[in-house]
Amino acid sequence: MTDRIIPIADARYSARTPPVPELAHASNGLLSDARGRPLRDLRISVTDRCNFRCTYCMPKSVFDKSYQFLPHASLLSFEEISRLARLFVAHGVEKIRLTGGEPLLRKNIERLIEMLAPMRTPTGAPVELTLTTNASVLPRKARQLRDAGLQRVTVSLDALNDKVFRAMNDVDFPVADVLAGIEAADRVGLRPLKINMVVKKGVNDDQIVPMARHFKGSGHIVRFIEFMDVGASNGWRLDDVVPSAEVVRRIAEEFALEPVAANYEGEVAERWRYADGSGEIGVISSVSQPFCPSCTRARLSTEGRLYTCLFATEGHDFRAPLRENWSDDQISAAIGALWGQRQDRYSEIRSSETAGLRKIEMSYIGG
Ligand code: SAM
Ligand code: SF4
Ligand code: SF4
Repeated sequence: MTDRIIPIADARYSARTPPVPELAHASNGLLSDARGRPLRDLRISVTDRCNFRCTYCMPKSVFDKSYQFLPHASLLSFEEISRLARLFVAHGVEKIRLTGGEPLLRKNIERLIEMLAPMRTPTGAPVELTLTTNASVLPRKARQLRDAGLQRVTVSLDALNDKVFRAMNDVDFPVADVLAGIEAADRVGLRPLKINMVVKKGVNDDQIVPMARHFKGSGHIVRFIEFMDVGASNGWRLDDVVPSAEVVRRIAEEFALEPVAANYEGEVAERWRYADGSGEIGVISSVSQPFCPSCTRARLSTEGRLYTCLFATEGHDFRAPLRENWSDDQISAAIGALWGQRQDRYSEIRSSETAGLRKIEMSYIGG
């Protein structure tokens, strides 16, 4: 086949896109990468746009009025996403998470959910289908999403204090409206909810205990996430990270906590429960305790590039093969070959040398 290097609209993403391998033999069935890790999770970014400008994700200084988001024609269609998802499920994917950008901004997202919801793993189990959202449109969308077959949502909320939250989302969005979104999701049964809080030292770390207190007893699980060096525009510094051990220590000063075993091997959040039985919290320690050895995630970007690590600098284009009518066997073979050669372990080797890499923005690759 000819050189499949696809020109990229925006050099910020990568200088070139490596081709997907075209192999003679179809590869189906469960996969294992070069470090023995299976493929279990697929995160699908359905849009690179967002109505927030969270300072740690899409800072206004970069994502301003002149920023060129992807044109509609370059997005994977729902049919293309569903076809790829089906092939990934045949390779062991058990969980699909829709993300972005803000996934609820993608027009008719319910239709995509309807297409993905009936999927079954090769053993006949339903594929777990979830979505991560800033909740801004959840109050009016929750019921439609549930009716379409969504099982649960994760809502991002970085503070309970309105002033702190408005400053972090940087579009003056009020906490009350996110809480209304959480309530709406809960009411229609998209529960238990997970609430993601990215913790940034000196910005919202005074919100750790108030967030824990607010959701204690609600059935929802707050997950405190270490501020990560994703992308190349959020000005990350190690000094801004509050290690998860410190988060747990601060909460445990107020409420007795006990460690809980992981739900399954490879779970990224470390679980803790309140000793009085009123629920649990999680901490995600990508910086202080990397979980690369058990990382089973692949990410599909809005325009169909596959990334085998959140911190990747290169993705593999699957949109061209889809639009050039490759057969399922050919696409399966490409998925198998790419996963088979996967070596990624960025968080384990994070250092001054990795700091200069031109990593893909989280809003593009999907959080
Ligand atoms: N817009 C949706 C939302 O905010 O929930 C989905 C996409 S967002 C990129 C997915 C998750 O990534 C959010 O929970 C967000 O807080 C998290 N995130 C974004 N940038 C991050 C960073 N630099 N470090 C840690 N988490 C980050
Ligand atoms: Fe938008 Fe989510 Fe990124 Fe915030 S974290 S800017 S809501 S994509
Ligand atoms: Fe997985 Fe890459 Fe994160 Fe390591 S750094 S846990 S390989 S996404």
